[in-house]
Amino acid sequence: MIVNDTSSERVVLPGYVVPERYDLSLTPDLKAFTFKGKVVIDFAIDSDELAKSNGHQIILHAQELLFESASYTLDDNKDTTIEAEQINVNLKETTVTFVFPSAIPATAKNLQLTVVYQGFLNNQMAGFYRSSYTNMKGESCIMASTQFEALDARRAFPCVDEPARKAVFLVSLTIPSDLQCCSNMPERSSVSLDPHTRQVSFWPTPRMSTYLLAFCVGEFDFVQAQTTSGVLIKVYTPVGKSKQGEFALDCACNCLELYNQFFKVPYPLPKLDMIAIPEFAAGAMENWGLVTYREVDLLIDPTLASSQQKQRVAVVVNHELAHQWFGNLVTMDWWSGLWLNESFASWCENYATDALYPDFHMWDQFVTGHLAAALRLDALQSSHPIDVPIRHAEEVNQVFDAISYCKGAAVVRMIQAVLGFNAFQEGLQHYMKDFAYKNTSSTDLWQAWEKVSGLPVGELMGSWTHQMGFPLLKVVKEEWKSDSVTLELEQSWFLSDGTVPPEKKLWTIPIMTCTADGPQADMTLMREETASVTIPLPSESGWIKLNAGQQVPMRILWTSEMLKRYQDPIQNGKMNAMDRAGLVTDAYALVKAGHMKPEQLIQLLQYYLKETEYVVWEGLAMVLGGIDSIVSEDVELSKQFHAFGKRMVLNLLPHVGWQAQTGEPHLTTLLRGLLIGLLSDFAFDDEGVAAEAKSRFQSFLDNPNDVQSLPSDIRSQVFKIVLQNGGATEYEQVKGYYKTASDNAERKHVLNSLGSIQDKSLKVQTMEWMTSGEIKIQDFFYGMGSVGRSNKMGREVAWQYFQDDFEKIKGMVASASSSLMDACIVMCCGGFCSDEKAKEIEQFFEAHPVPKSSRKIEQTLENMRANANFLKLLQSSDLSKETFWSNL
Ligand SMILES: [Zn+2]
Repeated sequence: MIVNDTSSERVVLPGYVVPERYDLSLTPDLKAFTFKGKVVIDFAIDSDELAKSNGHQIILHAQELLFESASYTLDDNKDTTIEAEQINVNLKETTVTFVFPSAIPATAKNLQLTVVYQGFLNNQMAGFYRSSYTNMKGESCIMASTQFEALDARRAFPCVDEPARKAVFLVSLTIPSDLQCCSNMPERSSVSLDPHTRQVSFWPTPRMSTYLLAFCVGEFDFVQAQTTSGVLIKVYTPVGKSKQGEFALDCACNCLELYNQFFKVPYPLPKLDMIAIPEFAAGAMENWGLVTYREVDLLIDPTLASSQQKQRVAVVVNHELAHQWFGNLVTMDWWSGLWLNESFASWCENYATDALYPDFHMWDQFVTGHLAAALRLDALQSSHPIDVPIRHAEEVNQVFDAISYCKGAAVVRMIQAVLGFNAFQEGLQHYMKDFAYKNTSSTDLWQAWEKVSGLPVGELMGSWTHQMGFPLLKVVKEEWKSDSVTLELEQSWFLSDGTVPPEKKLWTIPIMTCTADGPQADMTLMREETASVTIPLPSESGWIKLNAGQQVPMRILWTSEMLKRYQDPIQNGKMNAMDRAGLVTDAYALVKAGHMKPEQLIQLLQYYLKETEYVVWEGLAMVLGGIDSIVSEDVELSKQFHAFGKRMVLNLLPHVGWQAQTGEPHLTTLLRGLLIGLLSDFAFDDEGVAAEAKSRFQSFLDNPNDVQSLPSDIRSQVFKIVLQNGGATEYEQVKGYYKTASDNAERKHVLNSLGSIQDKSLKVQTMEWMTSGEIKIQDFFYGMGSVGRSNKMGREVAWQYFQDDFEKIKGMVASASSSLMDACIVMCCGGFCSDEKAKEIEQFFEAHPVPKSSRKIEQTLENMRANANFLKLLQSSDLSKETFWSNL
């Protein structure tokens, strides 16, 4: 049951004391930003392991704690307390060693350790930390909450902070009587200690990992409901805003029932709380029974919220709830298994959201969301395999990225397509039942699927999880007949900049195809470098699409004949939206890598002139936006391409319009948001567009709650158009909304758009505002991105500011999650496409190293160099000739 991994390459604590139960009592002081702690840990003694050590000491994880005393008693001699004679803290290893005067007796079976200590309520969104917020009365308040994943439980109490060391936790909190608190389990008792203080104790948790423990202290309102199977769900909100919790509550109630049926193991806790935390580094955290969220990812203002925001809340809630089983009930035995935890929850967020809100069409959106993000990152040589060996736990923080979440989810989606839904689900149900409250590695899941399907799941998955990158599947030969087509296929490692792969790799590729008749039932597995497939065609001029439904994370290189045959199914919507989106995003990547000519891409884009599907437009937006940003370095080319893009987006405008219609489909609302965003890039100077945006902005100024004229779905987009056409007055008007907006989702519109202002000094002012202390560190990179991604001048401004104020930025995110610094680097340095700039940025980081972001920096530079090559490629193509564009 307990994994003892001293034989492997993992750096873990000695295994002779095995924690079974933590009795944790904390007294936070929300004024002094400190807490007092006492923990009583029941250990089982592993006598074999004990014999191998000197037994004089107990080593636990601990960070930023001040120790007062430590002592233990043995099971058979409770009256004798052995006091630690030394308490040694190791800052680098984040451990504490309690040294005792004599060795733990070889015959001891159980040991109870008591530690008294103090800690800090930091403001770095890690461990037991504080958040500040302004309440409804305008007063500044403090609340305290936890974020322990991955390695920060040790900032709240000394523990064996490893996922395989599952134990039972009893939490008790001593708090001011006028505050509330919650933890993983329901409240067991509340005792007044004096008129101002009470002690709240919670029921013991099930056996679980330290990173899933949680507690919060503050003032909240809540809404609640009971699921049909009797679980009480509460959504905690800021005081006075309980209505904003209703959407998530409804979603969670339905989702929990859905997962009960899906996993066939009922949710094991009596309650589920979800709470919005004013300062939060990630999107949300799946703590068992007490899920914590960034406010924008949980709260929905029923009158103001956009469709995009509702979708986001549904997706995040469904993701975290999936973890209650996958991750919490069955847990990875070490951080190298984190990917499967996140991959599976990312698959589930789509599965559940699609089931609960079918009009969101989540699986269509998957292609331009998760899959596109995975393929973008994993085409770099600085990517990493999904299944990455992690020696020291600290390394885990660098793999919370699109590979774990997005490529992992794509691989899970692929295996689901291969197995079929029933076998996929049945395998999972066995896995949940067999490993409940235990730890696993990924092979346990592959075996569960193999057992039910008889298919070589381990082999198939291994080629996708152990190898970095993904294949380019190239059609090298074609033979068209009147009723069939035979294609010769060849696979190789796809790299975004088109360089020859440094080594040969092979994947086991499920070959799934579709034609005008729909998806073909036959699926073969391609294991070798080459393969041949023959597919029946319904007509002589028929078409065939490989990678039907974009089920496999790979790129396809078609022949020009195949491409020609796509014209009709694309123009007339005979090919489904996922495949239409997949074709154009593949084409863009292939052109960038030099496998296809830029002229062919423009030709292909013209097939999409009548396109009106949201998902396909997501793909088109990536292509148009991507090229537009790269050619912005070349005035003439930029002018031509910009005009082309403008024509395409203005073409769509009459189909969607500015005004939302009552009861219109969800995807139409999203398409409008996307379109107006594209207008702000390509057509902000169009007279009609500028006037419409201005008039809607004026209505908004008159009444910010006028969601008819300016719904939140198009707010930041309209702000961008107005800012690009405006000056200091408009800048102040948009900025002013940050102070008066009713919630964070609304404030984000300001941060996301402000940098669009054309005036250089106002761009600089935006950067300064982000680091002024007025913007929370969870949000400041949004504003930096609005400058860095606005245009050529914006890139320079953001990069200059980043260099000048590097120490200040570094200080702001000092010991917070490295994801914040990563985001900042991407926003301020990521937009360039020249080798010189890449060199300059590389040199800067050599002189100012950020070790925790090293992978992100490497990826940013590789991307930049690939974009620089792409620019050269475009400049040497026909696209640089005016005649090419005038002949279109
Ligand atoms: Zn997750």
